[in-house]
Amino acid sequence: MDKIIKHYLSSQCKIINSIPERKILEAVNFFKQAYLCGKKVFVIGNGGSSAIAEHFVCDLKKTIFKENSKLAYFDVISLVSNNSLLTAIANDHGYDKVFSNQIKNFISKDDILVIFSVSGDSTNIVEAARISRGKGAKVVSFLGRNGGKVKKMSDISLIFSSSSYSLVEGSFSVYTHLITDYLKFIVSQSQRAVFIDRDGVLNKKPPKHDYVKNFSEFVWNAGSMKLIKAINNLGFLSVVVTNQRGVARKLMTGKFIENLHIKMNRDLSKIGTKIDAFYYCPHGLNRCNCRKPQAGMLFSAAKDLNIRLKDSYLIGDSHDDELASINAGCRFIKVDSDKLDVTKIINKISK
Ligand SMILES: [Zn+2]
Repeated sequence: MDKIIKHYLSSQCKIINSIPERKILEAVNFFKQAYLCGKKVFVIGNGGSSAIAEHFVCDLKKTIFKENSKLAYFDVISLVSNNSLLTAIANDHGYDKVFSNQIKNFISKDDILVIFSVSGDSTNIVEAARISRGKGAKVVSFLGRNGGKVKKMSDISLIFSSSSYSLVEGSFSVYTHLITDYLKFIVSQSQRAVFIDRDGVLNKKPPKHDYVKNFSEFVWNAGSMKLIKAINNLGFLSVVVTNQRGVARKLMTGKFIENLHIKMNRDLSKIGTKIDAFYYCPHGLNRCNCRKPQAGMLFSAAKDLNIRLKDSYLIGDSHDDELASINAGCRFIKVDSDKLDVTKIINKISK
């Protein structure tokens, strides 16, 4: 083989194979989590890397978009594609601001900024990373050489250690395609869920500031077992999300709650159904990110069970349930405590 060709191809293979599998999976997981939790992804790069950025946006959006499908939309946005805007910002505020100005009032917590940069030192890229981090967003970077300044500003970086632009940008393209294909598989396996508050929805609500502390205090509400069966028959996962501060107050133990949930599924097995997963928050007030109205339990379930939150529902009887559904980006169905209109709920879900 011609020496130049042989050298180029072997160098390209070497650099592509230099990224540990663990890093690739970590990067895939960032995109997976963003998709399942309805977060936005912004993509940037200069020169040849800007073309790769645009190509990646195209692939991600086209992968997820399917005619007549019920899959949630993937909010992937190219910051390199609007010439008028780019030149206007560059002209009025300087080239350093062309990316950061587009996102500074728009990017939010747990969104992702994706960076393609061989040097990792371009000022407009560094500025965008700085603004994104300040807003609590994640930074996922594809870099060359030694990663430059962006390396330290990234939550995860894939670094192709070479100063050859062609080899590094060639590797960027291989990895964006790999990640897109992996994500295609994850999306095809993803599911919809109905999250259900427990006390007051599935069972009689205990008096204010009290809890279900033993089996005899647990009484199913009329229609609630039928509701679980109907949810499962519609192809949704059924997932209980319940605040149980009584554990922090030492009124009952986590072990008791887990046993109660086993007993609930034993009852449900008699009518041929089950709750697919249970999440409870045992913590006191303002001590965690899982107690509703926070959405931590829903985010954990999305990760564990591959659930698309935008396509899912939360059934609850309190304002905190409603806020948790807003924080998670899923739809809310309000019910009156201890009064379930199963037909009405099922009609809403099956629309
Ligand atoms: Zn908690």
